[in-house]
Amino acid sequence: MLEHEGVSFLGNVHLGTDVTRDDLLSCYDAVVYATGAMSDRRLGIPGEDLPGSYAATDFVNWYCGHPDVDPDAFSLDADAVAVIGVGNVAVDVARILIRDPAELRDTDVSQPVLDALTASKVREVHMIGRRGPAQAKFTTKELRELGELPGVEVVVHGDEADLNAFDLAGEGVRLVESDRRVRGNLVAITKWAQGTADPSAEPATGSPSGHSRRLTVRFWLRPTEILGTERVEGITLERTAISADGKFGGTGEFETLDAQMVLRSVGYQSVPLPGVPFDTRASVVPNAQGRVLGEDGAPLPGEYVAGWLKRGPTGVIGTNKSDAAETVRCLLEDLAGGPGEGDVPLPRAGLLRYPDRPPPAADPLVPAADLADPAVDPAPPAAAPAGGERPLAGVLAGRGIVPVSYAEWLRIETAEADLAKELGRGERVKLHNAEAIWSACRPEPE
Ligand code: NAP
Repeated sequence: MLEHEGVSFLGNVHLGTDVTRDDLLSCYDAVVYATGAMSDRRLGIPGEDLPGSYAATDFVNWYCGHPDVDPDAFSLDADAVAVIGVGNVAVDVARILIRDPAELRDTDVSQPVLDALTASKVREVHMIGRRGPAQAKFTTKELRELGELPGVEVVVHGDEADLNAFDLAGEGVRLVESDRRVRGNLVAITKWAQGTADPSAEPATGSPSGHSRRLTVRFWLRPTEILGTERVEGITLERTAISADGKFGGTGEFETLDAQMVLRSVGYQSVPLPGVPFDTRASVVPNAQGRVLGEDGAPLPGEYVAGWLKRGPTGVIGTNKSDAAETVRCLLEDLAGGPGEGDVPLPRAGLLRYPDRPPPAADPLVPAADLADPAVDPAPPAAAPAGGERPLAGVLAGRGIVPVSYAEWLRIETAEADLAKELGRGERVKLHNAEAIWSACRPEPE
């Protein structure tokens, strides 16, 4: 995609600090915001900010090698970890914590992260759902994979797997009848419950079954406090239930779990983009099928949104593909629409309408051709659109910003492949921090 002649890649450009929304709108006929959901939801309980209590987003960014996260941010000296939430992110983080790190050797996980996982003391992970197995959000394939991890025993309490034990309204039974995903999840959960002899037993170490780590999936428990003075020592959970009249709530019965680390995996949240409309209640950009809506509820010309920023943090990769397709369909419809009667002439035939668009401001403008270092970026800079528009590269140059080019991005990729060879690991290994990335991308002259 990045090699397509109509595509230019401008990396490491931050909306809000390097460019403004107005810059984008003056440089392009259409802008698609697709920045996802980078923040996390909070639990709002005491102890949430104790050392050892983390947002799953931070943990995911750490093991995925996000350059803004310190590779030493997690030392994994906890014996037991509580993961709050029963969605796919909870599955992802539980799996990373509990699986044999030797299996990650051939993946692209960075070396410091692999070293930390190899040195991990974690033996027990509790994944905790505030409602029942039928209401859990995980998808069946992802859930089932937890049962296939070598050396990991999966434990489920029999009463918590029983659809009727804490649900007097029969909500779970109805969900099983109506939803194939829920039925699939229940098959896996019931099997684990049937294979669990004593859920309160200590995790077996080097047991005859060969299990050395244990994952316990709990239901009908909501966290009320994260315990500890200097750092996390445990978590208090309240038993929950659905009453006969369908009300969900706590039962007043509490239990405490020992855990030296808590990962809050209760959903992601989008953050507002500077200058771009944002619905603070739903944490999305207000839109109609991807057309960004202004305060009056009418579509804003030339602004579109796709993905989690458009509809909230739900759905798997395929869901985001069809979501993006809907946005692009709208964009193409607008493009085909042409100018309406009385509209100002379009910058190019067949493009979007900008009835009130101001002329480009007289910002210091360096022609894009002067910008590109041919040694770094052999690709020609994006052609300036007809009609006097300013290419974004020129706007950035005027501010002394040199974006990361596709050629530089390829250098990072090559450095990752070289590192994998050097370490004798898989096809590629991620560079471990921003400094390593910069020195691969823009090496100091000899
Ligand atoms: P999610 O699917 O919305 O799950 C969030 C979980 O947190 C739910 O179990 C929810 O329980 C629980 N929760 C929310 N507030 C809580 C609170 N105050 N106390 C206790 N529990 C609370 O979110 P996610 O796991 O972050 O995943 C986001 C999206 O990414 C999902 O659509 C997921 O499928 C997708 N994803 C997919 C993959 C994959 O395809 N492999 C991997 C990762 C993520 P309630 O239901 O009771 O609210």
